[in-house]
Amino acid sequence: MTEILIQNADTVLTMDDDRRVLHGADVLIRGGEIAAVGPGLQTGGEVVSGRGCVLTPGLVNTHHHLYQNLTRAVPGAQDALLFGWLQRLYPIWARFTPDEMFVSAQLGLAELALSGCTLSSDHLYLYPNGSKLEDTIHAAREIGLRFHPTRGAMSIGESDGGLPPDSLVENESAILDDMIRVVDGFHDASEGSMCRVGLAPCSPFSVSRELMRDAALLARDKGVMLHTHLAENDEDIAYSQEKFGCRPGQYAEELGWTGDDVWHAHCVKLDAQEIDLFSRTRTGVAHCPCSNCRLGSGIAPVRAMRDAGVPVGLGVDGSASNDMATLSAEARQAMLLQRVANGADAMSAYEALEIATRGGADVLGRPDCGRLEPGKRADVAIWDTTGVASSGSWDPAALLLAGPIQVKHLFVEGRQIVRNGEVTTLDLPRLLERHRSLARKLIED
Ligand SMILES: [Zn+2]
Repeated sequence: MTEILIQNADTVLTMDDDRRVLHGADVLIRGGEIAAVGPGLQTGGEVVSGRGCVLTPGLVNTHHHLYQNLTRAVPGAQDALLFGWLQRLYPIWARFTPDEMFVSAQLGLAELALSGCTLSSDHLYLYPNGSKLEDTIHAAREIGLRFHPTRGAMSIGESDGGLPPDSLVENESAILDDMIRVVDGFHDASEGSMCRVGLAPCSPFSVSRELMRDAALLARDKGVMLHTHLAENDEDIAYSQEKFGCRPGQYAEELGWTGDDVWHAHCVKLDAQEIDLFSRTRTGVAHCPCSNCRLGSGIAPVRAMRDAGVPVGLGVDGSASNDMATLSAEARQAMLLQRVANGADAMSAYEALEIATRGGADVLGRPDCGRLEPGKRADVAIWDTTGVASSGSWDPAALLLAGPIQVKHLFVEGRQIVRNGEVTTLDLPRLLERHRSLARKLIED
């Protein structure tokens, strides 16, 4: 089996159960797995120098809408609140085809890889003009990132009092049929899996109560995970109380949307009772600090969630609401926002890195990822700390306090995806040209 030895790293942040921080240590990769971590390891295989570098587990992105990076910084959506923002963007997204879905997924995954991400979920909830979930799965396969796509859905269009145009919503029985098709066709439950499919109605206000419940039943039947947006802002809470007569947490609980096989994006407005519910049920949260700032949604109570034992991971969210999808910067923002809310000692750089790695892996049901220890998957981010951003740093915490925000090398399942800051698995200049030309076409239409 192929071996790669990452040798003599200045620091290895293992994120193992003891959160060990090793200095002058090596990481031995054998096949897709980590074989050993420690000083003085030997190999007959390839050697990659870790000198001047900090090693972390690959970062994990728990919430994204990859297709949105064709609509960054759209005038009219730059400064709008959530619902107005959606209404500006829906008609543009309605023009997307499988080509837009594939190219934007690849571009988005390349952006994530360069910022240290080895495992990303994606939430694709609109399928215009023949688009399918596998458009994104094929994109992830080519670039080589570990991928957890979710089959999203919207079924309440304008004519039924919903927000999206009717052309972007689907019939609920067709949604369920397609959920079954993509789980049967693409979900791989095995250890070390590179693709796990989840079910993800867009939000409680874009599908019916019945679809929420049926998706939960189907997910349990198939053994896959559930994902949606929840309690994102004040409008969201008001809508839930007016429409369903309860808070989002209660709505989720009633419909089977709590448990360790469920994770909700945002959760900015969870109250103490809802945090307790999530803690008791091990329901996960995808914290998206930049998106929450960008849309003015508020500061998620991550300190309280973590103290209560709620599983929390990080998400960059879609590039129409971030608009940057650099996951390392998201970890920094998570740390800073908790300090704004709760003081300078509210979250250390190490804790934010833990949320970004093993925290996210646990939220996605992947305890085999997010740690650098023998037997775990060989997903490794290597950060060069000899450059301008980190020069003069006294401690590895500089990774978030100072930088860098892009990796030197990145390994996923033992395969090198980034080498010396360049994506190795695809022709990036060609991809950028395709992506730019698709964006130009959307702008001109
Ligand atoms: Zn989102």
